[in-house]
Amino acid sequence: MKKLLFTPGPLTTSRTVKEAMLEDVGSRDHSFVEAVKNVRNGLLRLAHVPKEEGYECVIIQGSGTFGVESVVSSVVGKNDHLLILANGAYGERIVKMANIHQLNHSVVRFEEDEIVSPEAAEKFLQSNPKTTHVACIHSETTTGLFNPVKEIGAICKKFSKVFIVDAMSSFGGVEMDMKEMNIDFLVSSSNKCIEGVPGFSFALCKKAELAKAKGQARSLSLDLYDQWNGLETNGQFRFTPPTLSIMAFQQAMKELEEEGGIKARRQRYQSNKKILDEGMAALGFKQYLRSEIQGHIITSFLYPDKRNFNFSDFYNALNEKGFVIYPGKLSKADAFRIGNIGQIFPDDVKALIAAIKEYLQ
Ligand SMILES: *Cc1c(COP(=O)(O)O)cnc(C)c1O
Repeated sequence: MKKLLFTPGPLTTSRTVKEAMLEDVGSRDHSFVEAVKNVRNGLLRLAHVPKEEGYECVIIQGSGTFGVESVVSSVVGKNDHLLILANGAYGERIVKMANIHQLNHSVVRFEEDEIVSPEAAEKFLQSNPKTTHVACIHSETTTGLFNPVKEIGAICKKFSKVFIVDAMSSFGGVEMDMKEMNIDFLVSSSNKCIEGVPGFSFALCKKAELAKAKGQARSLSLDLYDQWNGLETNGQFRFTPPTLSIMAFQQAMKELEEEGGIKARRQRYQSNKKILDEGMAALGFKQYLRSEIQGHIITSFLYPDKRNFNFSDFYNALNEKGFVIYPGKLSKADAFRIGNIGQIFPDDVKALIAAIKEYLQ
């Protein structure tokens, strides 16, 4: 049975993206080496920072977390100090990384239903001049809010701090200009808004900052500089590459372009989101976030309070009809999440709403 994934990844992919994985390809095969090159250059273009302008794309095997950990554990040096701005589970994940790698770090926390405050970040940087790096999540997938990374980037620039952004669930679904936003390291992965299959993450890096990471990684496999150096010197990965996932991703990037680029994709996701919002509201569901800070990637809905609602029963009923939703991850409220990224179209969202209505009846 064909299932539609209303999740933040892995997500529904096109048949043609899956078909791009039907032929085995060796890691030294010309078509694969070309695909790696196309993907790396194409990603920089999507972020408006071509190689000629001093930016580099490093592909890291594994899921999105591997990419974030590679950046965090490679670019924050022994004498550096990282500030983590956290308002959800993914911000806390970076805190965990900082602890494990024993990085000098501080955390400024915000409520899960509040965005990171640029003013609070500025105040912290004013009174803590030892800070060298700042890390923040763009689309906090825990709730679905969008943090004001552009404003935080401006503050990082003002105080000359290196800015690391986990834009995992938003890159490709929102227009982002890395230079304009003053982002030095932006991380995302193959199975989010570019709509590829899982297998790797990528870090878009300001080359001058990437160069400083030479020799200071805390692990071999996640050494960002070494990984980049390997790709640059002979176009090869240091260790087994996710060959088919990259072939699929190359196709996914082509389809993104055919759709009309990031702008058109954002519009489709926003159309999906509008139908979801209206349909769920009509069924009596309340959202966790206030609409001003809610992004268009994923939405958290509170459990309905009157009926004796059982999430796992709800999940299973929808799953049997071919709709896969996502559990909640909030620390203070019972909620479930519905994403609208991937090969999901307005009619699919309407069909999901109809299935939810039928379940409630
Ligand atoms: C998906 C996601 C990640 C990475 O999660 P993986 O399970 O490692 O792919 C990191 N940050 C955010 C905000 C995400 O949405």
